[in-house]
Amino acid sequence: MKKFLEEFKEFALKGNVMDMAIGVIIGAAFGNIVTALTDSFITPLIGLITGGAKKDPETGQILVAAGSFSVGDVEFNYGAFLSAVINFLIIALILFCLLKAVNKMMTIGKKKEEEAAPLTRKCPFCLEEIPIKATKCSHCTSEVPAAE
Ligand SMILES: [Zn+2]
Repeated sequence: MKKFLEEFKEFALKGNVMDMAIGVIIGAAFGNIVTALTDSFITPLIGLITGGAKKDPETGQILVAAGSFSVGDVEFNYGAFLSAVINFLIIALILFCLLKAVNKMMTIGKKKEEEAAPLTRKCPFCLEEIPIKATKCSHCTSEVPAAE
C-alpha cells in the first residue's frame, strides 16, 4: 500500500495529471462550442433542408426546428438524430486533427534524436552510402565489415 501511494505521488507530481486535467477541461469547453454550433447553425440548416422549418400560424414567425415526421401520434425526430451525428463527426474530426498535430510534434522530437546518430555509412569499396547495419553493400555487393 505504501509503495502504491509513493507511485501515485510520483505520477501526480510529474505533471501528467495536470496535463490530463487541462485536456479534460478544454475538451468539455470544446464540446460546448460544438454543441452551440450544431444547435445554432446545423440543426436549423437540417431543418431547412428537411422541411422542418415552419411558419407559426399565429405570429407569422418562422420556427426553425430539425426535421421530423409523424406516423399517427408517434413523432420521429430524425433531424435531432442527424444533428447528433454531425456533432459527433465534428468532434471526431477535431480530435483527429489534434492527435495528428500531437503525433507530428512527437515525431519531430524523435527525428532530432535520430539525426544525432548516423543511419548510413560509406561502403569501403565503392564509397556509396549504405545502411549502417548492412553487412553487404547494395551497390557493389561486396561483403562489408559490420559496423562497430
Ligand atoms: Zn559498395
